[in-house]
Amino acid sequence: MAVVMTAPTTTTAAAGPAALSETGEMETTLRGVGVSHGVAIGEVRHMGTAVLEPPAKQIPAEDAEREQGRARQAVEAVAADLMARGNLAGGEAQAVLEAQAMMAQDPELMADVERRIAVGSTAERAVYDAFAAYRDLLAGAGEYLAGRVADLDDVRNRIVARLLGVPMPGVPDSDEPYVLVARDLAPADTALLDPTLVLGFVTEEGGPTSHSAILARALGVPAVVALPGAGELAEGTMIAVDGSTGEIFVNPSDQKKAQLEAAAAERKAALAASTGPGATSDGHKVPLLANIGGPADVAAAVEAGAEGVGLFRTEFLFLDDDKKAPAEAKQVEAYRQVLEAFPEGRVVVRVLDAGADKPLDFLTPADEPNPALGVRGLRSLLDHPEVLRTQLTALAKAAEGLPVYLEVMAPMVADRIDAKAFADACREAGLQVKFGAMVEIPSAALRARSILQEVEFLSLGTNDLAQYTFAADRQVGAVSRLQDPWQPALLDLVALSAEAAKAEGKSCGVCGEAASDPLLACVLTGLGVTSLSMGAASIPYVRATLAKYTLAQCERAAAAARAADTAEDARNAARAVLSGE
Ligand code: PEP
Ligand code: MG
Repeated sequence: MAVVMTAPTTTTAAAGPAALSETGEMETTLRGVGVSHGVAIGEVRHMGTAVLEPPAKQIPAEDAEREQGRARQAVEAVAADLMARGNLAGGEAQAVLEAQAMMAQDPELMADVERRIAVGSTAERAVYDAFAAYRDLLAGAGEYLAGRVADLDDVRNRIVARLLGVPMPGVPDSDEPYVLVARDLAPADTALLDPTLVLGFVTEEGGPTSHSAILARALGVPAVVALPGAGELAEGTMIAVDGSTGEIFVNPSDQKKAQLEAAAAERKAALAASTGPGATSDGHKVPLLANIGGPADVAAAVEAGAEGVGLFRTEFLFLDDDKKAPAEAKQVEAYRQVLEAFPEGRVVVRVLDAGADKPLDFLTPADEPNPALGVRGLRSLLDHPEVLRTQLTALAKAAEGLPVYLEVMAPMVADRIDAKAFADACREAGLQVKFGAMVEIPSAALRARSILQEVEFLSLGTNDLAQYTFAADRQVGAVSRLQDPWQPALLDLVALSAEAAKAEGKSCGVCGEAASDPLLACVLTGLGVTSLSMGAASIPYVRATLAKYTLAQCERAAAAARAADTAEDARNAARAVLSGE
């Protein structure tokens, strides 16, 4: 068994029986959402997700203190383990794992556990019940909190497993490479996946822009999410996962495996041959930049040949402490490490994007009925100008004396007033760099020219732009159809923004996950986007595909995609134009 990296294929296989596998089983095709390129062929191993429900037995009052001690010890051990996994993993994964460790140590949750033990629960049952109560609260408290339920369940399972002395739930123990299948993957598991053992993964839940999908791409492991019935694939079944098309071939025939392997070999050769700056075959330059979460992601970006950073998600620096922002000196150090890695390159830093799926206690209001539509992103920074000022001052200091082209942008800009407020804050902090606005809200795309009166560039955050255009939460697998970045309405908004930037003589990049789809990258180029920023692992794929087509072909593909009515038709129309069908 081996990981086979392959090109995004250009066929759309229909679901259903095809041929017999070598073991005489019928080959079938399932379709989910491909979120991380490449093909993996191997046996299914399921994630150990069984919810351990400890029996509800009554303990004598004199045992309560001992049980409370056990509970505290287990919580501390699990938190320490999560922190250690975070240190090992580094980058974006570290921040996510540290946030989970903080969940485990939540003082209110611990107080609830102790209260339950005082009235007769065992430690494991008290943990189980206290987390269940907290879980219900999260699940009913708005979409972004509901999105954290998987993380909370994972923390609970780890503490209960430790108290019961049973193996931790999570990645299966196996010396043989396998394809990991799970309902959803908790960050603690994705962070530690060993790419030499885990050939790829498939989940029943999750959408293309969920944080699990982003982590999968960061790891460079082929992945398909939102696959209904994934949990029913029998342990040990042979499957082939195509992370580009979202197809899963169950019991693939020898012919299918050979076909996938041949496509993979061809693709590998093309990838190896493609180096240098991003450009179409006729030399139209489209800089390929990396999305990073901090200094730990820089090495992979440099190795993939990133021409700079198109999105530095700085919020990961803010997750260590939920009471206050990191000190200016600590921020200067982190920014400088990133800036030094790209001498004379372009580094676009996004100021803190807190709120919604990334809440921070000291910034995010706790009582919003709908946090995704509340005070988040730039809105919370304008409410806390001291946090913005410290960040901008730290950035100015970090860039001092370096030849790097630092650029700074704000998330969630809605209109010209927002853009002006951000530009004023940059000027007041003495930043002598370009400042820009992310286009994540449809209003910003519709009125892009007005926003460009205040800032010097636009960067399309297509993850949130899709979320707000289609009123479809990016964390919810059930609405992943609407999160598809091929949706023609989303392409229209990209085109509007790019046209506005061109008319103003300014630039308009894409830094949402849309940029990491090689075919869509060609379409975005055809729509007039001037740079593409993505997880480092996707850069070689995008570079190789873009280099195959002229700008005029990309423009024709873009027009064909926009003329379609559905995401699938848009994808097929662009494919047909580019393959000359
Ligand atoms: C986006 O919304 O597309 C984006 C790039 O920002 P994030 O994924 O961090 O919200
Ligand atoms: Mg966003």
